[in-house]
Amino acid sequence: MIFFRMGWPMRLFIDLMWFFKKEKLSYITGIMLLIVLAAINLCPPYIVGRVVDGVTNRTLTPEILWPWLLILCGLGILSYILRYSWRILIFGAAARLSRLLRQQLFKHFTRMSPSFYQKYRTGDLMAHATNDIQAIETTAGMGVLTLVDSLVTGGFVVFSMAAFLSWKLTLITLLPMPVMAWVSSYYGTLLHERFFKAQEAFGDLNDKVQENISGVRVVKAFGQEEVEIESFRRLSDDVVKKNQAVAVVDSLYDPSIMLIVGLSFFLAVSFGAYEVIHLRLTLGQLTQFTLYLGQFIWPMLAFGWLFNIMERGRASYDRVQALLGVESEVQDQVSLQGAPDGSRAELRQSVKGDIYCALEQFTYPGQTKPELKRIHFTLKEGQTLGIVGKTGSGKTTLFRVLLREFAGMTGEIRIGGVSIEEIPLDSLRGIFGYVPQEHFLFSTTLAENIALGKPQAQLSEIEKAAKTACIHEDIQRFEAAYGTLVGDRGVTLSGGQKQRISIARALLLDPKILILDDSLSAVDAKTEKQILLELKGNRSQKTTLISAHRLSAVEHADLILVLQNGEIIERGSHAELMEHQGWYAETYQAQQLESLIEEGGGLA
Ligand code: ADP
Repeated sequence: MIFFRMGWPMRLFIDLMWFFKKEKLSYITGIMLLIVLAAINLCPPYIVGRVVDGVTNRTLTPEILWPWLLILCGLGILSYILRYSWRILIFGAAARLSRLLRQQLFKHFTRMSPSFYQKYRTGDLMAHATNDIQAIETTAGMGVLTLVDSLVTGGFVVFSMAAFLSWKLTLITLLPMPVMAWVSSYYGTLLHERFFKAQEAFGDLNDKVQENISGVRVVKAFGQEEVEIESFRRLSDDVVKKNQAVAVVDSLYDPSIMLIVGLSFFLAVSFGAYEVIHLRLTLGQLTQFTLYLGQFIWPMLAFGWLFNIMERGRASYDRVQALLGVESEVQDQVSLQGAPDGSRAELRQSVKGDIYCALEQFTYPGQTKPELKRIHFTLKEGQTLGIVGKTGSGKTTLFRVLLREFAGMTGEIRIGGVSIEEIPLDSLRGIFGYVPQEHFLFSTTLAENIALGKPQAQLSEIEKAAKTACIHEDIQRFEAAYGTLVGDRGVTLSGGQKQRISIARALLLDPKILILDDSLSAVDAKTEKQILLELKGNRSQKTTLISAHRLSAVEHADLILVLQNGEIIERGSHAELMEHQGWYAETYQAQQLESLIEEGGGLA
């Protein structure tokens, strides 16, 4: 039954064959050493048996004893070296497997589209990247060891007992084996179920921590510390409870095995003594037999462990593979996938910044209601498009469709005459410089934050981008200027400063098409004006798309689209829209009045 149960998890070794082949040398040498070690281990009980017989027969002399003792010492040193070597070889290879899988997983994560991150929780993904990979590493290390040891060491010992000592006694002492098989199988299943639940609970806990760290300001602002601490306590209690449940089975496992081993010893000593009395076995042989039986404990345990390791490894491997198997919804067309990098870079260079947009409909994955409908416009290279509308009207969505972050669009969008679906994704994203609404700065220097997309940029280039984004002077005011650290260990920047750094980051790439997605909302009207002026001067030959709440940010645009519920309700230049007397004109006038009042208030 146990072999039947083990069939499924054991297939993991076949699934991991690609890796074993890759690390052939380490594994073959490591396993050979294990086999040699198993053979060497058979010698000490034999020597002890000879010595005991020599003592009982009164034939032992120092001349006989000394060589035996020297051989024992030699074998001890040899075993030491062999044990060290196989550990380095097999466990070292296993560590390389986990590195490989971790890299594969991380690379995969970076390639996924936003909908992937909507579907999977961060905590779960972290658990996959840590616990699951660890479980697979254990399979490739301890799993291989326990398999070889239980079969080879166990086999050698049983063979020696049966062939050289007494097959009858061997048979009797092995009687408890089926019970051990049952215990191992029963506890193994239980352990797997409980381990899975513990993993899930750990995922929940990870999520909670992640959420609290990124949302710490909100938690504090709303005085929710106690509530959060309480809910964290509940989750960590749950993790403890579920891990304790795993530990209970784990703890039951070893004593049960030891009980069975003890039974074997009992049978060996009682029946063995009977054989000695009837002169069918010498005292030295019985000693040798019991020493072998002692050596059989580890292979028996290893056999049980093997089952647990394989169960855990199997489940983890399947989860990691399932994750690696998730394809990004947005894919390059097959004909483009093999395109050499050079031709992609060429394409990025050659594509012009004209935009032809004939989007009929766009629906977010998993949604039924379309978010955008009939968005038609054309824009020539060097022109500026303004997109305005209430919050939730679809401005960001339109940008994300242009960047092909999501699949699910009908109609056609062309950049420089080429359909966006025909442009390889990395080239497409290289054409755009996107400044999203939510700014994200990494915990590194300001210079490195700006140079994110072009790490090899010179400081002069970084400064130029910062000047255009009107953040250069702010940066100069910091003691370490561009070397100032941002984030947890560095300075805290205002929302407006963060926005301008994000703009500088995009400008440094000098993109064919720059998208400012409500990126001027946190800067004051004067700075906004200055940035727009700088952009006009610097990007007169390049295309710019700006979405904004403050209409003054799009006033100068060649074409302005007003969106409502994902549809264009007004379009035209500023002058045309003002004449039209619709939403744009009304909002513009209201905002002008507001700023006049603010200025007036300021003067009073
Ligand atoms: P705006 O930028 O004009 O404020 P958005 O484009 O961000 O508006 O949002 C338009 C609508 O799309 C909103 O109703 C929002 O709820 C919805 N939406 C945004 N992102 C997603 C998403 N990933 N999945 C489903 N719906 C979304």
